[in-house]
Amino acid sequence: MKITDLKTHILHHRLDQPFESAFSTFTDRWACLVEIACDDGTVGWGECLGPAGPNAATVAAMAPLILGRDPLAIEPIWTLIYNQFRDQGQRGLSVTAQSGIDIALWDIAGKHFGVPVHVLAGGAYRDSVPAYATGGFRQVGRDRIAALEEEMAQHVADGFGAAKIKIGYGHEIDVAAIRTARAVLGAERALMIDANHGYDTVEAIRLGRAVADQNIAWFEEPVVPEQLAAYQDVRRGQPIPVAGGETWHTRYAHAQALDARAVDILQPDVAGCGGITEMRKIATMAETAGVRLVPHVWGTGVTVAASLQMLAILPPAPQRHAPSDPWLEFDRTPNPFRMAILKQPITCENGRVAVPDGPGLGIEIDREALARWSVGD
Ligand SMILES: [Mg+2]
Repeated sequence: MKITDLKTHILHHRLDQPFESAFSTFTDRWACLVEIACDDGTVGWGECLGPAGPNAATVAAMAPLILGRDPLAIEPIWTLIYNQFRDQGQRGLSVTAQSGIDIALWDIAGKHFGVPVHVLAGGAYRDSVPAYATGGFRQVGRDRIAALEEEMAQHVADGFGAAKIKIGYGHEIDVAAIRTARAVLGAERALMIDANHGYDTVEAIRLGRAVADQNIAWFEEPVVPEQLAAYQDVRRGQPIPVAGGETWHTRYAHAQALDARAVDILQPDVAGCGGITEMRKIATMAETAGVRLVPHVWGTGVTVAASLQMLAILPPAPQRHAPSDPWLEFDRTPNPFRMAILKQPITCENGRVAVPDGPGLGIEIDREALARWSVGD
């Protein structure tokens, strides 16, 4: 089998209601999908985390390295691409682009052997995982508290057992938002907070202490991800478990974070950290270091499916009679193409999402839907 074609699909949708994280305003939804075709007709799909256009350009720059190669040589291809881009790469777009290619190769391998990725990787520990609803951004032009109440009530109605909200807009409003979310979710559901590195150390510690009574499952990206010592300070200075990892790329960046004991919960993104190949290594490192791993997930059904394949193979930790399953991050923010590009959308039923058990990633792309939002390749 040989790789005969590699292309990207850029998807776009203009939002009616923009929303904001601590540092970014979302006026549009974008995605960069990777499609790799082989001489026997097998096609694999991947997705790159981050800006769609630059990812597509970087994937195109990598294409000559893999065209004509055996798609089952997943590890050698990973090493080849990484090495060729290492001098100006190591993190950022070169790794997010490579992630999309790697995911597509795993999809091809699964389809070639007629098994899901989790079987290729040694077998699943679970066939479904609990999902947490991710959202709680600041809606532009809307009252923060009223909009959040409405959104949290919808998560409850939809059956989610956990939800994550964004903070990083200012101490007072963040405290009010957290208390609002907790009140609507009730005591029995988990609540996570994500500052998208919108605080400095002093602010993060103050916030963590102020909401210590709210039973927060984790405090995500309190400070900028380059400052591992600041993460340590936040861990020491306030009582909520600290999470991070969506911007740490490859095993090397995650090794530094683990060595620094920067987080209680590591959050690699399969479409950003280097793909399934690299995330398996990161998962082993996290297990070795005794650090919990909960994947970061932000993308279309392609990324969600790849993340579910990873969630299926994460070893139970700790191993005991009733192990706790790792959470799937389930994006609930507006994105009409997220699941529409799949022939069978991935859904959350009673707070859980099934691991796809079809060949490869276990999904089929709806090309008509893809064309509806495609703005280039
Ligand atoms: Mg985050």
